[in-house]
Amino acid sequence: MVDSRPENVSYSSVPSGRHKGKTHITIVGAGIIGVCTAFYLTRHAKFDPEKYHITILESKRVAGGASGKAGGLLALWAFPQQIVPLSFQLHSDLSQEFDGEDEWGYRRLTTLSVQGDISGQGIKGKEKSANTQQRKSAVTKNSIQVKSDLETEPSTLPESLNWIDKEFIKEWNQLGNEQTTAQVHPYKFTTFILKECLKSEAVELLIGKVDDILFDDETGHCNGVVYSPSSTKAVYDQSIGKKYELESDKVIMSIGPWTTKILPDCPISGLRAHSITIKPKEPEIAPFAIFSELKTGPRKFASPEMYARKDEIYVCGEGDTTVPIPETTDDVEIVSEKCDELLNYVSCISSNIRNGKILKTQACYLPVVDIPSSSGPLIGETNVPNLYLASGHSCWGINNAPATGLLMSELILDGEAHTCDISALDPSLYFDASLIYDSENDSEEVEEEEDISGDTEDEDDDENEVDDNDITAAFRVRQ
Ligand SMILES: Cc1cc2nc3c(=O)[nH]c(=O)nc-3n(C[C@H](O)[C@H](O)[C@H](O)COP(=O)(O)OP(=O)(O)OC[C@H]3O[C@@H](n4cnc5c(N)ncnc54)[C@H](O)[C@@H]3O)c2cc1C
Repeated sequence: MVDSRPENVSYSSVPSGRHKGKTHITIVGAGIIGVCTAFYLTRHAKFDPEKYHITILESKRVAGGASGKAGGLLALWAFPQQIVPLSFQLHSDLSQEFDGEDEWGYRRLTTLSVQGDISGQGIKGKEKSANTQQRKSAVTKNSIQVKSDLETEPSTLPESLNWIDKEFIKEWNQLGNEQTTAQVHPYKFTTFILKECLKSEAVELLIGKVDDILFDDETGHCNGVVYSPSSTKAVYDQSIGKKYELESDKVIMSIGPWTTKILPDCPISGLRAHSITIKPKEPEIAPFAIFSELKTGPRKFASPEMYARKDEIYVCGEGDTTVPIPETTDDVEIVSEKCDELLNYVSCISSNIRNGKILKTQACYLPVVDIPSSSGPLIGETNVPNLYLASGHSCWGINNAPATGLLMSELILDGEAHTCDISALDPSLYFDASLIYDSENDSEEVEEEEDISGDTEDEDDDENEVDDNDITAAFRVRQ
């Protein structure tokens, strides 16, 4: 079994019991959305650690999905416009407060769209089918929203852009400048913010996969979740293979592309996308984000996106619908040919990349909202009282995470979102959250509350600040 412990983050398999006697808020999913939600809850004026407790449940690893493998571009022209300006500003504020420049690579940058022809370079391109074109707008950020913000391009590419071979670029446009675009390293950002949350005694992280939502038989309201511990630690503390009912006053589902695995009527699906990171030959790489449209042959095009980070270049490709979303982030299949293809394309227009070194090849799933009239995300309470959704952030989840977290904190602690009008993102407009999968365990009798405080502690794990033995009657175990 893979150790799911995120670097230097304390976690447990079973609850500490600190939620007992408090309003218990369970957040499912430790991607950027779940983590920002926890963070802004703890920041809310009404959040009193004596009265509230937050449990974050993550099935495999913190930021193990798109939140750790995304490009990290932030843009004022992202969508949906109801929340983008707020989120862009919150990113800037967080960076100022916590030294984001050093901690997670926050910086302002210039964003360009370039068109080039690499067809003479013997590169195999993939002819875009109508389907690919249609899905592309769901993945790439260089879509309609961007066009209105085009700035008039000077005749030559900016002098400072030192990692693109300009002879292959036929046309280009500036999409954003340092006032309108910025970037973060999504993995570093998410893990940093989580660590900030965990400094509060009021927040704990459990590594376990949520299998079901619990409903009160009489009222139909959501009152908790059922989860199965899934970390290495669960082997030591003997919680592996068991299912726990975690009672909660509020449950927030922030599991991105996995949403329909728990809420089958929810119109959110997963779209796989590959990406690579490269250590360029020349270490000085000017801060540019580049959306490319490269002609690779007759009627063949490719559209890799490239983001210069301080010490690497990140490249991602278009989405593919060939493989349905697997059980967990650890099971995501990486097709090495797709990563090679990406490298080949960008090598054609950048000798600095061509002569550099591949650092990572990876794939993850984008949470796409399948509603014709909305690009998402869906943020708010579902039609099941106390069950909330913050999911479907498409290709702008990194940008929109802080605003989502702030708005979720208002919804939970004030009863309504007042910083922005997010009525159009209300999940209850779009699906019925009371429809759930029949779990094979539904027919199982729930065992009486069981004292398993004799379970062994994980002696190997010094990071574990949570006392696994402090197991209270606030949850029940079934196996
Ligand atoms: C290639 C690519 C590039 C991108 N680039 C950008 C960009 O430049 N800028 C931008 O703003 N956005 C970008 N995005 C979009 C952004 O990455 C996503 O919108 C965002 O990460 C979604 O975050 P999330 O927390 O909703 O989902 P995720 O990151 O998928 O997190 C969901 C978490 O839930 C956990 N989980 C799932 N099921 C369960 C369960 N049953 N129980 C417990 N836990 C569970 C998963 O393990 C996972 O950790 C990009 C996306 C892709 C794919």
